[in-house]
Amino acid sequence: MPSPAEYTGSLVIVGIGPGSRDQMTARALKVIAGAEIVIGNNTYLDQLEPLLVGKNVIRSSMGKEVERAKTAIRLAQKRHVAMVSGGDAGVYGMAGIVLEVLEHEKAEIKVEIVPGVTAANAAASRVGSPLSGDFAVISLSDLLTPLDVIEKRLEAVFSIGIPVVLYNPKSRGRPHNFSGAISIARKYLGENTPLALVKNAYREGEEIIITTLCDVEEYYGKVDMHTTVIIGGFESRIWRMGQDVKGIITQRGYHRKYVY
Ligand code: SAH
Repeated sequence: MPSPAEYTGSLVIVGIGPGSRDQMTARALKVIAGAEIVIGNNTYLDQLEPLLVGKNVIRSSMGKEVERAKTAIRLAQKRHVAMVSGGDAGVYGMAGIVLEVLEHEKAEIKVEIVPGVTAANAAASRVGSPLSGDFAVISLSDLLTPLDVIEKRLEAVFSIGIPVVLYNPKSRGRPHNFSGAISIARKYLGENTPLALVKNAYREGEEIIITTLCDVEEYYGKVDMHTTVIIGGFESRIWRMGQDVKGIITQRGYHRKYVY
């Protein structure tokens, strides 16, 4: 490792939001515009294509996060590097692993983390206001967290009746985690609890399904790794306009204090 004076580069870990340019922050756009090197996985880089003209682009694949973190840190000693990560980089994203590797390597490069719109917020905005008060976020991916730990967390959050957002609900490698999570939810929540499946929020192929805990089985086939699931809590209900189901409202408590 060089001495601190020799670190002339920088590393910015950028959350690029759910998919469309409109949902990126001004800071994210500015950092990418100013970067010499942009590193990320293919899905995210493809989304950014027009912004990458003339830049050195390093494409990495899913599952190669540690390698990607090391490469970015090595390059950022001399060059201005932007590492892109979907949604928010600090939510099941690249920020944590980059900081761990950085600490381990004792590299004193300049680091900035740029927040992005995470899937929970993106999905919620498409279905009304399901996350108006306290809520929990759980990933069903058992690649880094054992399934029995995930199940304990699900029991804990469903038992207190707050809305729960599920990331990584299903993949070919673990098709049963989602139905398992639904079984746990049913132990604590009523069958009419509203549930939203938001697939590809703010990107091509967006699909939104509003259903209930008792009817969700009908849609199991729709749930994939591009889907975020929002399960309402004790204070959540379907939001209607006329006869149309528009989404979910979770009451935060104004109705107990005010007349409106
Ligand atoms: N760092 C990302 C999350 C990465 S985990 C973030 O902050 O959003 C990957 C999971 O995020 C996916 O399996 C899916 O559950 C969710 N996700 C990411 N982008 C999404 C989108 N545009 N629409 C719906 N779900 C999305």
